[in-house]
Amino acid sequence: MVRKPRWPRERNLEKQKAAKGSQLEKNKAAMTIQCKVCMQTFICTTTEVKCREHAEAKHPKSDVYACFPHLKK
Ligand SMILES: [Zn+2]
Repeated sequence: MVRKPRWPRERNLEKQKAAKGSQLEKNKAAMTIQCKVCMQTFICTTTEVKCREHAEAKHPKSDVYACFPHLKK
């Protein structure tokens, strides 16, 4: 039995589908930064500035490191 050659377009679609799936997984894994005070999650690309903004806006009485201990170096 001879396998029919697949059209490149079809292959590309499969590739896209796979990429989309892995991207979703990546997004899920990327939700790693969590405010320890209100348990809100942020994607790991969230900058320190954004974390500080969140801490100042939501928890003015808490230290920013109480919300995001990972910022402490
Ligand atoms: Zn918070």
